[in-house]
Amino acid sequence: MPQRVPVVENILSANDRLALENRARLDAAGVFAINIMASPGAGKTSLIEHTVRGLTGKLRLGMINGDIATSLDADRARAAGAAAVQINTGGDCHLDAVMVQSALAQLDLSALDLLIVENVGNLVCPASFQLGTHKSVLVASIPEGDDKPYKYPGMYRGVDAVVINKIDLLPYVPFRMDYFKQGIAALNPGVTQFELSCRTGEGLPAWLAWLEAQVREYRQAR
Ligand code: MG
Ligand code: ZN
Repeated sequence: MPQRVPVVENILSANDRLALENRARLDAAGVFAINIMASPGAGKTSLIEHTVRGLTGKLRLGMINGDIATSLDADRARAAGAAAVQINTGGDCHLDAVMVQSALAQLDLSALDLLIVENVGNLVCPASFQLGTHKSVLVASIPEGDDKPYKYPGMYRGVDAVVINKIDLLPYVPFRMDYFKQGIAALNPGVTQFELSCRTGEGLPAWLAWLEAQVREYRQAR
């Protein structure tokens, strides 16, 4: 047992080094990248589909989809118009920097402005693995319940934005928005938040505008 903690620390620091290499590679090509995390079923893939449709023509989009075993999500992203690479993690419950490195090698980064990385659906370990992306976004959804920030603080603490999806279900599901937001505020004060519904389209324009602005700011800072 005493061996375990150092082993985990070494894996994480090796991962962080590789994440920095991934970041350097993205920066050399001028590609802004975001890491999208969520529990299974929160609507990551739907949000990405809407994002690809909403930003195609404005930005050149690429996608890396992490999934335990299928290529369904990459297929959906491609159908929506993005260059997409699927990573099957072979059972792993998160993406790591090595997986992203191999996916980057399969994309023509010079042809991209924005790269969206869809992490594996999981509210625990994805937050511990840096990938080299510039910003990270957590997608929460109303049916998951209003206690998630309290149960999974690690996921809420480090992200740059929280998307609250499926707000069309608010009339049908017990969900105290104030309680949920108090939980977020305690962990990540002032974090950017979006309330939206991929089903009805409500709130999507604000999310798309934010993402477009992130890419613009990234370019201006270079
Ligand atoms: Mg998905
Ligand atoms: Zn994991």
